[in-house]
This record gives sequence, structure tokens and C-alpha cells, in this order.
Amino acid sequence: MKSFEELGVAPELLKAIEEMGFENPMPIQEMVIPHLLNEDGDVVGLAQTGTGKTAAFGLPVLQRINPDSDSAQALIIAPTRELCLQIAGDLADFSKYQDKIRILPVYGGSSIDSQIRALRKGVQVIVATPGRLIDLIKRGEVKLNDVHTVILDEADEMLNMGFLDDINQILSHVPEERKMLMFSATMPKEIANIAKRFMKEPVEFVAGNKNEGSKNVKHIYYMVKAHDKYLALKRIADNNPDIYGIIFCRTRKETQEIADKLINDGYNADCLHGDLSQQQRDLAMKKFRDHVTQLLVATDVAARGLDVDDLTHVINYGLPDDVAVYTHRSGRTGRANKTGVSVAIIHSREKHKLREIEKIIGKEFEYRKVPTPEHIIEKQLYNLADRLERVQVNEEEINKYLPGVRKKLEWLSEEDLLKRVLSLEFNRLLAYYQHMPDIDLNEADKGGRRERGEKRERGSKQDKDRRTAPDGMERLMVNIGKAQGFFPGNLMELVNSNVAGPKPEIGRIDLLPDYTLFDVRKDDARRILDALKHVDFFGQHVRAEIATDRDYKLEAKDRREKARRKSDKSGKGAGKSEKGAKGSKKGVKGKKESKKGSNYEIFYKK
Ligand code: AMP
Repeated sequence: MKSFEELGVAPELLKAIEEMGFENPMPIQEMVIPHLLNEDGDVVGLAQTGTGKTAAFGLPVLQRINPDSDSAQALIIAPTRELCLQIAGDLADFSKYQDKIRILPVYGGSSIDSQIRALRKGVQVIVATPGRLIDLIKRGEVKLNDVHTVILDEADEMLNMGFLDDINQILSHVPEERKMLMFSATMPKEIANIAKRFMKEPVEFVAGNKNEGSKNVKHIYYMVKAHDKYLALKRIADNNPDIYGIIFCRTRKETQEIADKLINDGYNADCLHGDLSQQQRDLAMKKFRDHVTQLLVATDVAARGLDVDDLTHVINYGLPDDVAVYTHRSGRTGRANKTGVSVAIIHSREKHKLREIEKIIGKEFEYRKVPTPEHIIEKQLYNLADRLERVQVNEEEINKYLPGVRKKLEWLSEEDLLKRVLSLEFNRLLAYYQHMPDIDLNEADKGGRRERGEKRERGSKQDKDRRTAPDGMERLMVNIGKAQGFFPGNLMELVNSNVAGPKPEIGRIDLLPDYTLFDVRKDDARRILDALKHVDFFGQHVRAEIATDRDYKLEAKDRREKARRKSDKSGKGAGKSEKGAKGSKKGVKGKKESKKGSNYEIFYKK
């Protein structure tokens, strides 16, 4: 591997990048820098953000600027304002020791007058978004006659955003004798066409394989019912206490909704989309870059150019229709030699999209089971224990107060103390997850593919027996059943006479000896649960909640028991039935008692 110096980078640039911590060139830099400095011919660079492409073109561009001329010599075009600012900022850092070089970002959405004033003073490097640049050219404020280098960054994004005509128009103002570089994360036909049309003998450099996602990114997917996507998102966040990620949504509305829900649910989240003012977007990005915000919910367009190197996760809240969009999203993690995870939360009908993406990125998605509440709680507890171990203790200050606090707590044993410290943080999480069912759809286990090494945990008889609420419905449980003389009519009456507003629709009802399961519309579930909070059924306090895994299992067990009794009664196989019937009768009786006991345990110990 060559050093930057051996690649021909000038001393004043070397000094600046050394201070920035660049020790060795990244592969795209090793390829592009000497070519740009020494060779003729244009360049197509297939590189995602994060591969070091800004320095790959930025260093030679800066080196080739004549600092004694005030005219624009290099033009860099980027699809978004944010990317524009990012590139201009990087170039400013690289050119720290090149006194006379002036770089100006010009982009829409901010005062054109101040940009004109800066242009009139003379700038040698213009970093621009297409629309604003055309505006400035038309006003005669930007002259491109002396431009010798043109860079198109994120060319595929520019195409997606419909900038092709603008680019044609801009290039018509640049001298024919120019060097042109085009960087793109993917290589659709249209990009190849641009290269053919505008570039001279372009040399192609590829950082990584064409169209392939970054090597450092692991692609995983979770499969849930469509209406459980938000719950899955929360579980992923809870299961990764140190997560720092972007959640991509398809629409502005969905982006806002998901962010609002997350904030309401106590997550450190924010949103970024086109309905926000520029000021709001700037603030959201700043907070995210500064790690003040942990989760940023964003649309693809708004998040373009938001350059953050240390994302742990990119979360696809559903998959985009366009594979290139997925490549861009996932390319935001696993950058600058770090590793990252690109997560897709999908429902079963989106599986074919996974296959399409896999073909393009040349990698398989790994299937993951949505973390169970138990797993999440364990993970969070260990994380807290870890924080307890690592926390900096200000001995001097703490010692002042320690005796008083110790005295107050001296009645607690060491173990009690620890339990209480953990409970301070955990009671909310424990309360939330206590009644939460498993939401994993486990499609991969249903005869589809399965992650290597992952055990088949499902498919047991019990699971097949399990009745979950149909789409759009929620299954509720009340702690009264047949043994208390509770029948469907009573349930209807109980609900209708206590729930205010329109009568809720009640779906399937399963009456069990000591409790009842019934389906209601998801939208109605909350108001039914609230309405049944302080209600009695013939002196028994009614307790209503969302049915849990354990309820389903008991119900399945009860049905199996009934089926067994029925088959015993029908007397298949004489000798066996005699014995079996007798045995089973005894068994049933015993079971019934113990079942009653166990049900109460479930209801009141939770
Ligand atoms: P880019 O692909 O240009 O967005 O660069 C991704 C990140 O890698 C940026 O934070 C750069 O500052 C950093 N970077 C670029 N080149 C190097 C290098 N040779 N050594 C270390 N970091 C680098």
C-alpha cells in the first residue's frame, strides 16, 4: 500500500489530513488520487459514501487549483444541500494550509443574496446543488469558463431526484476541455449512459464490487404481522441499548407518526422529513450528529447528505420499492472501517423484495427472531450492570454525602440494595413487557429458509394449536369463565354496558373454566380495557388485559383436554377406553382443581 505522499499529495494537504487522523489512503483514494493528478481521461468511481471518496476527489482537486486566480476552477455537484455542506466542509478541512483557496457551497433554501456576495469576492471551488446553480448561472453570478474539473457526486441519487436535465444544462456552460469525475453508489443503465455521453475515455474505479453493499454491513430481517411493525421496532431498540441509528420510513406522514410514537413511549428519538422547515431539519440533524438524539426517523430524501460515520443501525421500516434506495440506506452504516447492521422489518408479503435486494447486493439477509421480552430484559439488565461498573465516581463529592445516605439505607442488605437500584431503571420496562406476546411471525421456520444454526423453536403441537387474533384484531382476556357462570351473553352485556361510545364489535369468544378470551378490533382494545377496570361480575372483580402467550397455551391445553375426553367417551378401542376413561376422569378432576389454582396464580401473581 502506498502512502498519501507516494500518491503525490502535496505537503500542505498532507499536513491537514494528518491532523485529521488519515494515516493511510483508503482503496478508492489509492486509485483515484494519482489518476486525477497525473493522467488524462475522465473517471467513473463506483463508491458508496463512507469509502473515502470525498478525499479521493477532493485532495487532487484542491491540489490542481491555481490559488492566484480568482475564477471558479472546480465545480462539484451534489444532489442535496446537506451533502453539499458536507463536501464543502471536508474540502475546507483539507485546505486548512492552502491560504488562498476559497470554497463556497451554494444550495437552495438559503439566502441567494449572501451566496451572490460570496461569489463576487471570487471562489475557486464551487460545491452546488443543481437547481440553485442554474439559478445563479442564469443571473450571471456564476461563470464557468475557467472550470477545468467537474465532479458529479452521488450521480444515481441525482438521477432519482430528476436532475438529469439540470445536469445537461450545467455541463453546457463548462468548457469542453475539462476533466470530469462521476461518483455513484450503484451503476444503473442511466449512469452508464451519462458516462458515454459526457465523458472522454472514462476509467472506471470500483471500491468494492459493483452495486455491492459495504463489506462491513450485516443485513438482517425480522418478520412480523404488518400491525406489529411498530412493536418490533421498539423491541429492536430495546434490545440494543446503545443503538444509534436512522429509521427509514416511506412517507412524511409515517415518519412523523413513528417518531411521535417513539417519543411518547420514552425513546430518545426525533424526525426528519420534508414537511419540516429548514431550521427544524437543521436542528434535528445537528442533534443527531452530536449524539443528543439516538434514533432519527427519516424519509430518504430528507436524510440524504446527513453524513454520520458511526451509525450502529439502519432500520428499514418496511422495504423500499427501489433496490438502489436500499443500497443507499444500508450504505450509511458500516462506514470508515466500522461495522454496522442494516435491519429490515417486513411482513410476509415483502419477502420477494428481500430476494431482489440480495441479488443486487450480493449478500444474503440473515433471519432473526424478534427479541423476546425475556431476552430484552436480560440484555438491558446487563447493560445497566455494565454502566454501573464503568460509571466515573467523584469520590470527593460523593464521600461528603455518603454517611447520611448510608445511615438511611443501612436496614437494607446488599442484595436488596442491588435489586432496588436495578428496579429504579427496570420497573417501567418490566411493566411494559409483562403482558407482551411473542410477535415474531417466524416465517422462516414455516418451511421457508432459516438462519443457519438457529434452532427450530416453533412448530410444536402447542404452537399449532395456538389461536391468535386475526389481522386488525386484538385478543383480550378476562379473568372470569364458565365456572363463574359467565357465558357469551354476559360478556356482551359486560362490554356494552360499560364501554362508552359506539358498541365495540366482538369477534370470536373462547370460554374456559376460569377465564375467557375474546377478539375485538385493535382500535377498540384500549377503551374496552379501560372501561373494564373497575367492574364486578357478581362480586368478582373483573380483570381484563391483552391475552398473553400463557393464556393461549392454557386455552390450547384446555381444548386438547376436551378433545381427549370426547375421544375417550366415544370409546375407540374397548379395553383401552375403559382404562383410559377411568384414568382420564380421575385425571380431569385432579387437573381441574390444579388448573383453577394455577389460573389464579397467573392472574394475581403477574
Ligand atoms: P466519505 O466516503 O468521503 O464520506 O468518507 C467517509 C469517512 O472516512 C469520513 O469521515 C472521512 O473523514 C474518513 N476518511 C476518509 N479518508 C480516510 C483515510 N484515508 N483514513 C481515515 N479516515 C478517512
